[in-house]
Amino acid sequence: MKKRIPSWSFSRLQTFETCKYRAALQWRDKVPDLQPKTAADRGTQIHQEAEDYVCGKAAFTHNLRFFHTDLAALAKHYAEGRVVCEEEWAFDNDWNPAAWREGWLRLKCDAVCFLDDTHVAVIDYKTGKRFGNEIKHAEQLQLYAICALLRYPKAEQVTCELWYLDQNELASFVMKRSQLGKYLKLYDRRGQAFTSEEEFKPTANIHSCKYCPYRPDKQGDCVYGVDANGVKSNTQPMTLKPLKPLTPEQEKKFARFL
Ligand code: SF4
Repeated sequence: MKKRIPSWSFSRLQTFETCKYRAALQWRDKVPDLQPKTAADRGTQIHQEAEDYVCGKAAFTHNLRFFHTDLAALAKHYAEGRVVCEEEWAFDNDWNPAAWREGWLRLKCDAVCFLDDTHVAVIDYKTGKRFGNEIKHAEQLQLYAICALLRYPKAEQVTCELWYLDQNELASFVMKRSQLGKYLKLYDRRGQAFTSEEEFKPTANIHSCKYCPYRPDKQGDCVYGVDANGVKSNTQPMTLKPLKPLTPEQEKKFARFL
């Protein structure tokens, strides 16, 4: 039987929809990504600084300076028992809340704030660029909002926000319970496509392959990829056509070059 990937998350979905073969290498075959992770390490550190500040475990840091007022407000809500940080949310494939290990869909929220009985705010800290990622980030907010409404049945409204900690920018999205059905249908289709896939065909182009660690000129686990110049891997076997015998005239002509 062909192997599937049983669980998804928003970032997995992004990779899968860019190149299914990359998703297969990463989560089906579990091929390690050995590329250096300077930006990711920095992001992890800043996330930790924000969390520690909100939970009252550490002082405010320079990296968080653009969101001083917002983080201070969040810290106050936390001190009054209205915030949970780094909560793990999981759902089964009927969208019922599930245990993390058994989750069909999994996501982790940086901060969830219960503004009142019917209004929940979900906050995700970002250290990457906003520009060029608008659609991806808007979709992430939609998925968070769906999950918050499912997880908290009394909530009538969810405000999801992305805080771009490096850039003093904020993206936000509000979903009301009346909109839930429409969005749920959309993400159900995408999640089911992810977890039922068996073929995992490669999508080799300069956009898909740009940051892929498995490219032929990087780790080399994928032989289909293209490099930044759009040059295809030449690891495919070449097919040689049989040589035609030369006529005596051709032999004379070509002999001049030998
Ligand atoms: S190198 Fe390109 S085709 Fe190969 S797995 Fe990565 S993204 Fe897909």
